Amino acid sequence: MKIAVLKEGGAETRVAAIPETVKKFIGLGASVAVERGAGAGASISDSEFEEAGASTGTRADILKDADAILCVLGPDPASFNGAKKGALLVGALDPVKRGADIAAYAAQGLEALAMEWMPRITRAQSMDILSSQSNLAGYKAVVDAAATYGRAFPMMMTAAGTISPTKVFVMGVGVAGLQAIATARRLGAQVSATDVRSATKEQIQSLGAKPIFVEGVTGIEGEGTGGYASETTAEYQAAQSELVSGHIAKQDIVITTALIPGRPAPRLISDAQLATMRPGSVIVDLAAEAGGNVEGCVAGETAAKHGVAIIGAVQLARTLAADASALFARNLANFLLAFWDKDQGAPVLPDDDEIVAAIRLTKGGKIVHERLAATQ
Ligand code: NAD
Repeated sequence: MKIAVLKEGGAETRVAAIPETVKKFIGLGASVAVERGAGAGASISDSEFEEAGASTGTRADILKDADAILCVLGPDPASFNGAKKGALLVGALDPVKRGADIAAYAAQGLEALAMEWMPRITRAQSMDILSSQSNLAGYKAVVDAAATYGRAFPMMMTAAGTISPTKVFVMGVGVAGLQAIATARRLGAQVSATDVRSATKEQIQSLGAKPIFVEGVTGIEGEGTGGYASETTAEYQAAQSELVSGHIAKQDIVITTALIPGRPAPRLISDAQLATMRPGSVIVDLAAEAGGNVEGCVAGETAAKHGVAIIGAVQLARTLAADASALFARNLANFLLAFWDKDQGAPVLPDDDEIVAAIRLTKGGKIVHERLAATQ
């Protein structure tokens, strides 16, 4: 089994393997070939990969005879002509937006595995790239907000007078939101949070934050399907908007993280609500790439509206490249190791396994995933 690790292109800083996971693969009898410079963005040198037992080389060198190709983002199919038929391609392949590229992987004979479609079952928790990267994004959103905000977070009683604590409101309490609450609390802020899923109320309280919930209109009872939210009723949306209007004018920092799988991000803050906030307030919108939770949010930019800075956060985990790579690389290794067959010296991916069925996009020259097959 030869495992190739790609150097990412563009703005990507992360890498899909780290020396620790390289050693694990080698311990199982595999060989690992890392594209030269692949770890540079995450401060891992070629020599560190070599010390772990990997070879390093050009893309052509590493792809030659590779049985599995590890990547962070799905690479341009044209960039690996000559890859072996049947080779696994494992990473965040973004199948919904990259349909043409997925079809090209199929035509190349690759077995593409989209790690972001990992099912939310206990067995797959250690393989879940969405969780590992969202957790870091939630942390970084608060750190970025603090860096932009012109005041201190904690209450400070000094000889020159008292500084009052910053008020932080977190909207959407999934993986990123929970870490945002915890981070803002560590920095000494007064934190409140909201979600449509009633199960989050206790989680908010257990982190020492105040839950702000719509009363009288039912949102989503419990966890929601697969842990995810769905769209709420018009009645709920109206009640939520009223609740936000009453609360937001008193907030200094708002972190929004609300997402609905397969749908544009729900709009949680209108321009009129923004106008009620104090100038100098900061919003970080982690849903920017899905259309944004905040009116006027621009993905990848900081917009100024009514004196409020709206940071349209994009791939924040990328800005913590070393940690994000370590967690991402372990997610990939945990997946491959869970299916490793000692006799064959390679992972064996059964068709009827729940994880395999959820993430396998292509096989034997065809698109095999039902969500994609329907669009062909
Ligand atoms: P997500 O990124 O899909 O959404 C972020 C949050 O936004 C969610 O909490 C969602 O309920 C909330 N939201 C959606 N619409 C909203 C609205 N209109 N107003 C306010 N909030 C809104 O969610 P996520 O981070 O992927 O996590 C969702 C859940 O799945 C969590 O409970 C998490 O613990 C769970 N989870 C389970 C596993 C597992 O069991 N393997 C793995 C990861 C996450």
